[in-house]
Amino acid sequence: MKVLVINCGSSSLKYQLLDMPKGDVVAKGICERIGIDGQLVHNNMETKTTWSIPMPTHGEAIMSVFKALTDTEVGVISDLSEIAAVGHRVLHGGEEITQSVVIDDHVIDVIDAHIPLGPLHNPANSLGIKECRKLLPDVPQVAVFDTAFHQTMPAKAYMYALPYEMYEKHHIRRYGFHGTSHMYVSRRCAEVDGRPFEDLKIITCHLGNGSSISAVDHGKCVDTTMGLTPLEGTPMGTRCGSIDPAIVKFIMDKENMTADQVDNLMNKKSGVMGISGISSDFRDLNAAANEGNERAKLALDMFCYSVKKYIGSYMAAMGGCDCIAFTAGVGENDSVVRAGAVEGLEFLGVKIDPEKNKVRGEETLISTPDSKVKVYIIPTNEELAIAQETMRLTAK
Ligand code: ADP
Repeated sequence: MKVLVINCGSSSLKYQLLDMPKGDVVAKGICERIGIDGQLVHNNMETKTTWSIPMPTHGEAIMSVFKALTDTEVGVISDLSEIAAVGHRVLHGGEEITQSVVIDDHVIDVIDAHIPLGPLHNPANSLGIKECRKLLPDVPQVAVFDTAFHQTMPAKAYMYALPYEMYEKHHIRRYGFHGTSHMYVSRRCAEVDGRPFEDLKIITCHLGNGSSISAVDHGKCVDTTMGLTPLEGTPMGTRCGSIDPAIVKFIMDKENMTADQVDNLMNKKSGVMGISGISSDFRDLNAAANEGNERAKLALDMFCYSVKKYIGSYMAAMGGCDCIAFTAGVGENDSVVRAGAVEGLEFLGVKIDPEKNKVRGEETLISTPDSKVKVYIIPTNEELAIAQETMRLTAK
């Protein structure tokens, strides 16, 4: 069956058409500048085609994706009826949605109700779903939530020590993000390791432009570093990660900034970009550090140190660890970061082989044979995970 995976951002829409259950990508692409002018880059896995198409809303974007998929020259299907199901990536399902679901009116209401918790993504996700339902009314649609995998966390891990009414009134708690990636990578890690997922204690390190780390104990997420929003946890490309919360008011007073301005500073101007003053891209930081740039080196050191502290704390949380899995742009490719993140953890049974650690973007065991904890690179594949969930819920 062919499954279309849709990932709607505020001004972009990524798509992949997958042939399931094999998981082969038949076509993929991206619509950008939605609401500005509109451009579609479509890849039928042989050629890439770029069109400028007016996209005032996500509706036109989805329409143009359907046109590209059925185009007589670069299309990959002859009719939209070949699409058996659509899987949507959705950011926030709050506490109400704990797993992937077939979309009905209620699910859309839940997504809309959580716009305050996902103000940039949930509106776009909801729009994308509504447009797809209009254009493909008879095709089942599934929502796969970034927050769902983390809903198994116990209250002691997801509560913040604020007055309890803040949780009751405003649902302020840790939700966690990148859930689809943590789910896929932890399951895949167990498969590659050859032991049952339900028997293992796994720490998944999703290190990319945004980064989060999760503790997956016997198949269930028990803690994760991102919180109410994707700002908490490790430093990231441009996000500060966890800081003393009192700093917010301190900066507002000292710099005469509004809350929104400090929010912007913490989300867009901080992280390894803010520390290095050079780039949010780890390739640039490695190059600069190699040339002796001290601030680039500091940014990398801070990042690795933070990842290491979370790995250590999740080992404590789970009372041990069988596997650590590195994934996403940095986790899959950056051997310096991987080495830095586990440096000195030999006393906890973590030892990587510097030669094996040179690998990039391939499923690989990078720990030494005598390492008690197995350390893996597991490339993430959120689209495949969404297609698998969609197939699981819709295949008759
Ligand atoms: P996103 O959070 O945007 O999905 P990705 O998981 O795609 O991010 O990761 C993007 C980041 O991965 C880039 O900003 C870059 O820092 C890093 N990256 C990609 N390739 C490499 C590489 N070969 N070496 C080091 N870092 C890399």
